[in-house]
Amino acid sequence: MTMRIAGKVGLDDLPRICPLISRQNNPKFKAGESLVVEVGPAKFGGELPVVIAGPCAVESEQQTLQIARSVKSAGADMLRGGAFKPRTSPHDFQGLGLEGLKILRAAANETRLPVVTEVIDVRLVETVAQYADMLQIGSRNMQNFPLLVEAGRSGKPILLKRGMAASLVEWLGAAEYIANEGNLNIVLCERGIKAYPYYEYSRYTLDLNVIPAAHAETFLPVIVDPSHATGVASMVEQASRAAIEAGADGLIIEVFSGCAGAERPKCDADQAIDPFTLSRIARHAHREGNGTVFVAGRWFRCA
Ligand code: PEP
Ligand code: MN
Repeated sequence: MTMRIAGKVGLDDLPRICPLISRQNNPKFKAGESLVVEVGPAKFGGELPVVIAGPCAVESEQQTLQIARSVKSAGADMLRGGAFKPRTSPHDFQGLGLEGLKILRAAANETRLPVVTEVIDVRLVETVAQYADMLQIGSRNMQNFPLLVEAGRSGKPILLKRGMAASLVEWLGAAEYIANEGNLNIVLCERGIKAYPYYEYSRYTLDLNVIPAAHAETFLPVIVDPSHATGVASMVEQASRAAIEAGADGLIIEVFSGCAGAERPKCDADQAIDPFTLSRIARHAHREGNGTVFVAGRWFRCA
């Protein structure tokens, strides 16, 4: 007699678990084709990878504006920044909250970069949706099902981080909760998983294999967060290049440029890269010199 285990699911179960987003159930997306998720001019799953960059957390108006301007000139397509931060300790900086959202919106308007920010609480979805162009569901909340439902109902595009200990099936099941609310504007984000050697020479393990695997199983675009995956600033560029070569549809990267009164970020300082490094990453991601040019703050593909 074979032992049966409750709750055990595998890739073969995907058509049942996520009929709305599985490639197998949606044959109109041919092999290799992705749904294009548009956030203003940024097109995830389009011709060019989308580079999102900005601070880990919004700390002040000056810091956010300065970083927003520098990532814009480095070639980023979108701005990131946390106003509500999920921190390990309640005594750590929790983000500026509503004030942070206002600062982010102002920085996004000035630089004309669409902005993504995390929503950590089901009660805050409506408020965050008023200020952000895209809502981020963080790794720690990937299976917060009421939050996924509410975020899906907001009608905003959703950046769904992979839980740090989530299988591909669980991740896609989470995306299905959003899709089930009639919202297919979902971008998946691999951000490193807990695997040996956790916190020895890097923060997490960047699972590059999941990029082609996710592309095979769903038509949703897949991006990579090399900042949280490595936790080491000097590893971010190599991880970014590797992700692009593995077929990632974009990157989300933490950047810091020192400003008066803030020499180091309040959170994730050791993984923040400078704008010059970001510019090299953006040029590689957009394949500068191979038919793309950066003109007036936007990337264009030449015919
Ligand atoms: C973040 O991007 O700010 C973040 C907290 O990421 P993650 O949820 O992947 O840890
Ligand atoms: Mn961070």
